Amino acid sequence: MTAQHAVFGHPITHSRSPFIHAAFAQAEGIALQYRAIDADLETFPAALQAFFADGGRAANVTLPLKEAAFALCASHGHAAQRAGAVNTLIWREQHWHGENTDGSGLVRDLTSRHGLDLRGCRVLLLGAGGAARGVAPALLDAGIDELVVANRTASRADALVDAMGEPGRVISAYWEALDEQGDFEIILNATSAAHGATPPPKLPSSLVNSRTSAVDLNYGAAAVPFLAWANAAGCRKQIDGLGMLVEQAAEAFHLWHGRHPDTEPVYAQLRAQLL
Ligand code: NAP
Repeated sequence: MTAQHAVFGHPITHSRSPFIHAAFAQAEGIALQYRAIDADLETFPAALQAFFADGGRAANVTLPLKEAAFALCASHGHAAQRAGAVNTLIWREQHWHGENTDGSGLVRDLTSRHGLDLRGCRVLLLGAGGAARGVAPALLDAGIDELVVANRTASRADALVDAMGEPGRVISAYWEALDEQGDFEIILNATSAAHGATPPPKLPSSLVNSRTSAVDLNYGAAAVPFLAWANAAGCRKQIDGLGMLVEQAAEAFHLWHGRHPDTEPVYAQLRAQLL
């Protein structure tokens, strides 16, 4: 029987998830149909119900639905619980179970593909939405030394910091006062600013040292503004979110099918499409 899968989000037309999961499924010999379903915060519950009525039992959610998906789930995996955000849904024991593979996907990309050693790093996280909540616990578990969170809406950065429960190791900072925060080994852009009309507040070059890697969770055109800033500011490495995209999908695929697909062929194809 062909398994029904989907990714929910808004906007969703440019999502690469259907391509990625179709490629994984073909490589692993699994029959599945994976579609993109446009849903915003208002329409998501009904859209998920309709998907379920059509036989859907496994799905991903993306921007801006990860926190809403968390609220819809009756049980959560450890990463999702810590993040308060869900990107992977599994129908289990008569309810939706929520997992979050964003953080493990990012860490796998940074350490395995890009050779970064996260241990002992001072990390600046820009953004406090669903993606930031997903990656923060995984970065802490990977052994970073300190996490500074700055967000346009300061109260959301404070809420993320509180949720991590590690005062002293995880702190918030006002974006406008980032020039008082010293320098970082990793600066991570987890905002969706490049998708919108309003540019994010400026970043000071004092954040950068000789070893700084800049990581944008976005990829393609949406990664250009931040990575261009990183290049101009002298960051040693500039990494976009394409590898994370493929790795978080592979982690979800593993949760659904019990197999971890080889991510390199799909990553190479997507990279070629972006060139
Ligand atoms: P989200 O929950 O909607 O959060 C958006 C975040 O961006 C919030 O922190 C928001 O700040 C901030 N923001 C939006 N416009 C801004 C602006 N003009 N200036 C400064 N900050 C701004 O979205 P999300 O799920 O966290 O996703 C964030 C980004 O990561 C998206 O672009 C998404 O495509 C990308 N992402 C990539 C992957 C991957 O696998 N590569 C995975 C997940 C997400 P406020 O709180 O002030 O609104």
